Amino acid sequence: FFISFEGGDGAGKSTQIKVLAKALREAGREVVVTREPGGSPGAEAIRKLLLEGEADKWSPLTEALLMYASRADHLERTIVPALARGAVVITDRFADSSMAYQGLAGELGEEAVSTLYKLVVGAQGPDLTFILDLAVDEGLKRSGSTGDTEQRFESKGSAYQEKVRQAFLEIAKREPDRCAVISADGEIMDVAARIGAVIQARFPK
Ligand code: C5P
Repeated sequence: FFISFEGGDGAGKSTQIKVLAKALREAGREVVVTREPGGSPGAEAIRKLLLEGEADKWSPLTEALLMYASRADHLERTIVPALARGAVVITDRFADSSMAYQGLAGELGEEAVSTLYKLVVGAQGPDLTFILDLAVDEGLKRSGSTGDTEQRFESKGSAYQEKVRQAFLEIAKREPDRCAVISADGEIMDVAARIGAVIQARFPK
């Protein structure tokens, strides 16, 4: 079973992934936690290319191609083999981030990102996607102290972040069977309980 977590900055994806992974392990499942861009040695090497240097180092098309090159490697080397042996895979970001950041909110547009999706992901996408939804200013307040992606990506301003938020909500509206929008507002364990309720309803027994 393949689960992705998506959402804007500071929504608490990595924290919620830890909570869910622990609960599933306690229920006896093998859980592989991974992330994008990255998640396999080759994809982590591409992540470095994406994150180092100036924000406009890559054109929108080249950036999306690098994201998708890393995703292809991540799928081939990490995700598909783990699913094949029966593990649950939980990834911090997947293709919806490309559609939101580069496609719907970014300069590249939806069609180019869809084309890459069909080529690279096809039918191998997530069974369930949690979209952690949070007001942009709240997310920016929270995300002060997180990972290495900040310097490279997070200088684009709150108008762009608002477009990204709306893009994730649009994706959820288009694919309600796969996506669950979770309010990321409130305490960690309150958000975790919202996620847990969806897992109860949708996770294969
Ligand atoms: O995973 P994390 O929340 O650390 O991602 C930080 C940033 O990476 C996002 O705010 C976004 O700007 C950028 N990103 C992107 N396109 C992707 C994935 C991430 O622009 N496909």
